[in-house]
Amino acid sequence: MEKKRLCGQNLKEMEDWIARLGEPRYRAHQIYQWIYQRGANDFAQMTDLPKRLRALLQETAQVGLPTVIKQQLDPEDLTVKLLLELKDKQRVEAVLMPYSNLDFSRNRLTGCISSQVGCPIGCPFCATGQGGFIRNLEAGEIVGQVIALRQEALKSENTLIESLNIVFMGMGEPLLNYAEVLKSIYLLHDPKGLNISLRRITLSTAGVVPRIYQLAQEELPINLAVSLHAPNNDLRNQLVPLNRRYPLEELIPACRKYFESSKRRVTFEYILLNQVNDTEDLAEELALRLKGLPALVNLIPANPTNGADQRPSPERIRSFTRILKTRGLEVTLREGRGGNIAAACGQLRARDSSLRSE
Ligand code: SAH
Ligand code: SF4
Repeated sequence: MEKKRLCGQNLKEMEDWIARLGEPRYRAHQIYQWIYQRGANDFAQMTDLPKRLRALLQETAQVGLPTVIKQQLDPEDLTVKLLLELKDKQRVEAVLMPYSNLDFSRNRLTGCISSQVGCPIGCPFCATGQGGFIRNLEAGEIVGQVIALRQEALKSENTLIESLNIVFMGMGEPLLNYAEVLKSIYLLHDPKGLNISLRRITLSTAGVVPRIYQLAQEELPINLAVSLHAPNNDLRNQLVPLNRRYPLEELIPACRKYFESSKRRVTFEYILLNQVNDTEDLAEELALRLKGLPALVNLIPANPTNGADQRPSPERIRSFTRILKTRGLEVTLREGRGGNIAAACGQLRARDSSLRSE
């Protein structure tokens, strides 16, 4: 029989389980903190538990954190990418971006995590989408990535772990794995556990409209980012195939609703693909499409995947940005992080080790 896996359980679940073993409930608190706050993966480390209980736990349970099987550092911008192996040998990647070495004042630490192994949406510019879909991640596998990234961040002396932001921008479409993603958000937030403020958590979606409404009802102050990538349905149908199911006339009102209930401004991500969606006309059309919405546009110059480099020239990026700003939109440009180790947006895959070139 497989041993009970603890990572992914909330405190209530752990208490119920420990009570069934005939142990006092406060033991669950201790184990919970060892796992979520201290990243312990072995009961032997839990030195404040009686020896007898540690032995019992070894026999019946496992912490079950994902195994870090590879770690890569981008020497230029200090981004770290972890390749993690799950219980069924599937693999996912997670990325830690330390605050920019060019701009220490920003003082940010961002962990980018995956919600699925692969992704069923299949956007043509995204390595994950091109690799197909394998399965959803469990809440424990999502939180396990954050624990691994946190342990990584703690290795460096001057990190401010309290400044850790989490973005669901790794592999997969989080809103197609709603229940487990939501459970992971509660676990990340729990002050008795990882204690990450909801305001520091961002979920990025390709636009699963019914789930955006559902998320709005949860009334959690997490940030929503929507991968827009095109201002009209014709183009968006090609770039984000999910648009055929949920076109812009449905997506934009859902975003408005999210803003109204969360009071948090929605971010619209817009990949810039040379000569595809980066023309001045499309910038004008985008400004019209977002008119009246409290929105932030985050432009992401395309990162190369499968050998294809579709990034526009700096002049094209500048003129697209300028038009949006002239039309009154707030615009940010996402710095490409981790490009040297294929850790930048859209470059994660890790579907199968045999597919990896290194
Ligand atoms: N599935 C979700 C979250 C993961 S992708 C989503 O699509 O929103 C996170 C962001 O990276 C998305 O905005 C996605 O469109 C973008 N992205 C994917 N491939 C990219 C690439 N090659 N270059 C730049 N950004 C990319
Ligand atoms: Fe999936 Fe997002 Fe990649 Fe599209 S961009 S294939 S939705 S992970």
